[in-house]
Amino acid sequence: MQITKVETVYVDEFWQMCWVRIHTDSGEIGLGETWYLPKSVAAVVHELFGPTLIGRDPMDREGIWDELFKLAGIFTYSGAELRALSAIDIALWDIVGQALDQPIYNLLGGKTRDKIRIYNTIGSYGEYQDNEFEQKDPVGFLQSLIDEGITAVKAYYMAPYAAESGGNFVSAKQIKEGLAPLAKQRKALGDQIEIAHDGGGQWALAPAIRITQAMDEYDMLWQEEIIHPVNAETHLKLAQETKAPICAAERLMTRFEFREYIENGSAEIVMPDLIWTGGITETKKIATMADTYQTPIAPHDWTGPINVFACAHISMNAPNVMIQETNRAYYKGWYDKFIEPNIVIKDGYLLAPEGPGLGTRLKDDVFNRSDVNIQETTEGYKWEATGFKDPGQKVSHFFAPNVPDGQDG
Ligand SMILES: [Mg+2]
Repeated sequence: MQITKVETVYVDEFWQMCWVRIHTDSGEIGLGETWYLPKSVAAVVHELFGPTLIGRDPMDREGIWDELFKLAGIFTYSGAELRALSAIDIALWDIVGQALDQPIYNLLGGKTRDKIRIYNTIGSYGEYQDNEFEQKDPVGFLQSLIDEGITAVKAYYMAPYAAESGGNFVSAKQIKEGLAPLAKQRKALGDQIEIAHDGGGQWALAPAIRITQAMDEYDMLWQEEIIHPVNAETHLKLAQETKAPICAAERLMTRFEFREYIENGSAEIVMPDLIWTGGITETKKIATMADTYQTPIAPHDWTGPINVFACAHISMNAPNVMIQETNRAYYKGWYDKFIEPNIVIKDGYLLAPEGPGLGTRLKDDVFNRSDVNIQETTEGYKWEATGFKDPGQKVSHFFAPNVPDGQDG
């Protein structure tokens, strides 16, 4: 089996989403996804990674991941390069699943469970205007989730206040105001629903501690990214000062960034975002590393439909998955525009996908949309490490394409 074509597909209506499709000479089409700046991701796919994939065997996904990661490594290893790698990795797993006629969780070692508990992140689309609903009627909003069998939610109570001080200060009055909806929710609904809190990485340590300590009386499910995850020691300090578990973090990229937070115990709940941190291959490793520190993971999702499917395979497989993020305004509101089948959520649980590979595909009419953007790579070349001497006679190294006609890049 050989890779013959690498495509990127994005639509103007959902301008943050980018799909990668990888075609093989035996007819499989693997589907991957990432989110944010699809033009940048497409540039990486077609200029850097795509040509090296042509002619490769998609079975070799571990070696391909390592090769592409090292190829991107000259620019460190985050940003559009890692988002592109994440999408490519998911597409390769999808191909292998199709070729072996097995769902991806079986390729990862089989199922630990048949369904995973979900929590709902607040979002808005179409008839589900949950952001507005929560602001107008915080208790009614949570009751509407409970009525669907959903028993956990994530909210952003303090977000409006961070902008005022650049995240450097929060007053007692602002905390009281910001947490008033939470107080109402707890009073009306008791412990019928678990509530997690996300700070969006906006606060400095001192106001973060003031906020999390004020929330401890509400028995939060976790405190997520109250501070930006750039310093594992600061995170540890926050964890020591806060009763609720600290969750980190969708902004951590690859096992190499997660390592410090897991090792020092400041990530009490580990939250990898599969389509940013390196795909299925890397998320499995992050889950295993967390497991060796007896730490659960909670895969992140607030993006497109393929991420949820990819997360579902990790969530069925990895023993230390605690809960899976989903967004009803998205899976009920717009995923059906693009994929078939959709994910299945029943009584507050995401069910294991059925069928080979991811268990879903892009609908044919996606390719007939007037706002669709499709680019493809079919020509292969290999990038090679090349030494050169600069005017100071210091030897530098860079990667240059070894183009098919032998001209050096
Ligand atoms: Mg978050």
